[in-house]
Amino acid sequence: MSQAIDIFLASFLYIGLCFRLIQKNYFLLIFAKNFLVISMIPKIIFLFFFLNSLFISQNVRFYGEAKPGNLMIGAGDNISKVLFDNKELLVDKSGVFVFGFDRDAKGEHVLKIYYDNKEQETFSFLLEKREYGKQHLTIAQKFITPPKKELSRIKMEAELIDEARSKIGKINDPFFMNGFVFPVKENKITGLFGVQRILNNKPHNVHNGVDFAGNIGDSVFAIADGIVQLIGENFYYNGNFVLIDHGQGLSTIYIHLNNVFVKNGEKVSKGKVIGEVGSTGRSTGPHLHLGVQWYNKRIDPMSLFSLIIK
Ligand SMILES: [Zn+2]
Repeated sequence: MSQAIDIFLASFLYIGLCFRLIQKNYFLLIFAKNFLVISMIPKIIFLFFFLNSLFISQNVRFYGEAKPGNLMIGAGDNISKVLFDNKELLVDKSGVFVFGFDRDAKGEHVLKIYYDNKEQETFSFLLEKREYGKQHLTIAQKFITPPKKELSRIKMEAELIDEARSKIGKINDPFFMNGFVFPVKENKITGLFGVQRILNNKPHNVHNGVDFAGNIGDSVFAIADGIVQLIGENFYYNGNFVLIDHGQGLSTIYIHLNNVFVKNGEKVSKGKVIGEVGSTGRSTGPHLHLGVQWYNKRIDPMSLFSLIIK
């Protein structure tokens, strides 16, 4: 509706300006010789396109909140290029692009939009520090200091994940524009994004995802449309898992699964059952760990579920 009002107002202004031009030319018609009038035509045509371009640019829309760990989506018309902190973003043909702020992002972040008519706009996002809590957990010591015999396996598994992740960011289609759904039916959260983990009383890694409570065998859903990038079987830390590419550098990972129901390269829709909740890998009990990344930036999955895409 608001778009219709915008178009109406723009058309109204536009007709008004055209009328002014015609008026001006009417007087010229009276005083000028024919060749002068003819010479005005290219200028009128130029002004027509110039005014047109003024009305069609500078209408970019943003979805999401600029906060450490958050994902934001932008959409606009006639965009030729977008730079975020001087890195060129993928922009699809409908003008959609996505960007995100890492868990530890701070200070000013700059987004520059270049339009087809050579104009540009700059948006500055100033981030406030976000506080994350602490979480104490007791887990088997072998998962904190893995036995020597497992080290080569852990290294190989990490390389497989790195290799799969390096392929994400090549798809220009914003599959995520169909929206997001929760990955499990009951959204009881047992581990928040970003918290500092204290394992067996010692500070350990940061929790780069959200843990959802569940029972072994509960369905796990793809949270958005995408393409399965990697299936992991019985990895030391992740257990069984699924990594999905949602386009433009956005990916999700579902770990500790009991079972996996999809294949590498499979196209999935949001809500599709991709596996079952389990407790495989480094896990204290049945739950789903959902991790989100935009390229290598750690994103809070909860920032996706609150996005309302129109
Ligand atoms: Zn977790």
